[in-house]
Amino acid sequence: MDLAKKIREIQDFPKEGINFKDITTLLKDPQAFKYMIDQLSQQLEGLNVDIVVGPESRGFLAGAPVAYKIGAGFVPVRKPGKLPAETIRHEYQLEYGTDALEIHRDAIQPGQKVAILDDLLATGGTVLATAKLIEELGGEVVSMNFLIELAFLKGRDLLTNYNIKALVTYD
Ligand code: IMP
Repeated sequence: MDLAKKIREIQDFPKEGINFKDITTLLKDPQAFKYMIDQLSQQLEGLNVDIVVGPESRGFLAGAPVAYKIGAGFVPVRKPGKLPAETIRHEYQLEYGTDALEIHRDAIQPGQKVAILDDLLATGGTVLATAKLIEELGGEVVSMNFLIELAFLKGRDLLTNYNIKALVTYD
């Protein structure tokens, strides 16, 4: 199945000059959604993943079904102030200013093998911050898996030490 055909592109969203990849058109298509989850799960075969981590919020949509499918646990990474128990935080640079992500302190045990799942790899800032949180808790990031990679933004250059895979690449 050609998943690229199921992704809708919206010009100038959320601001001018951005060609937004809208995955809601893929998610509502039962065959495409199943294919996406099956393919992402297949990429994790043999890695003995204990935990799938999904960054807010589209990482939940990809991460939770994959965790279920491969028999792993699911852990959310969220924007500050959303998680109820004790958290650790990682701040990261945006084009203008900074942003931050949090994870529960007890979400990952030292030595656990972790895969990060998200809908889209752009500059890599989100997934790198997520990896730092996991590593601070002693987890090992064995894979980063995406539905979409915007290769022209060169997110991989920021993520040289990681194993990265995407189902659909825009050059
Ligand atoms: P990065 O941190 O620059 O790699 O941006 C990746 C994050 O931004 C992901 O969590 C995506 O959900 C979100 N994102 C950036 N661009 C798009 C887009 O075109 N469509 C959907 N999500 C996007």
